[in-house]
Amino acid sequence: MIITDTHTHLYSEAFDEDRNEMINRAIDRGVSRFFIPAIDSSYTDAMLQLEKDYPEYVFLMMGLHPTHVKDNYKEELKHVEEMFAKRNFYAVGEIGIDLYWDKSTLDIQKKAFKYQIQLAKKYKLPIVIHCRDAFNEIFEVLEEEKSDDLYGIFHCFTGTLEQAHKAISYNMKLGIGGVVTFKNGKIDQFLYHIDLNHIVLETDSPYLAPVPYRGKRNESGYIIKVLEKLSELYNVSLENVAERTTQNSKAIFKI
Ligand SMILES: [Zn+2]
Repeated sequence: MIITDTHTHLYSEAFDEDRNEMINRAIDRGVSRFFIPAIDSSYTDAMLQLEKDYPEYVFLMMGLHPTHVKDNYKEELKHVEEMFAKRNFYAVGEIGIDLYWDKSTLDIQKKAFKYQIQLAKKYKLPIVIHCRDAFNEIFEVLEEEKSDDLYGIFHCFTGTLEQAHKAISYNMKLGIGGVVTFKNGKIDQFLYHIDLNHIVLETDSPYLAPVPYRGKRNESGYIIKVLEKLSELYNVSLENVAERTTQNSKAIFKI
């Protein structure tokens, strides 16, 4: 069984004490493909090191996270652009809009999002979207930017069925993680209406640990709990969910 974690911050400080053990635990459970979203330039070296340490398992993205779009965002975007000019990445991510932490930066968040969508089109790469309290704003940008060559993943999807259909209509797969195991997570109520072809698995570790680890540090190996939940919701085997969601991840990341 090959399980793909399409969104995991393995370079996070939260893993400084036991990173290798944590990664090996995940690999032992069949999680052998880790897609690593960027946050800002301060993490680039750690991401490159991770790729050096686990070349067969780790696939890097590059981008500027919406909560890190600050006064210096133009410099940060320059760094992103320079990295893309220098070498290959598998996606532009994570990018998007977050109005939960800071509404005052909406304007520059939008600019950074659009700019990075242009980069994705230029390099023919998928985008990985971070959306928090910002569905309308994100859909507005996607409506303006939509085209055959714009596609990707709506990471940590937590919207309604209607928003799920809308995201899919913009060539996005839904990244499903720990929230699907939460009692009040809501998406478990309707997810079976969405074909598995539109779904990829993720942990977003170290955040959003699934039940029974909710509130604790998340790790990629815990993706098994997400897999189990989807197997229950869709009434298909664990192997089937793992295989289909891995296929979907290959269609997006081209690896
Ligand atoms: Zn993330």
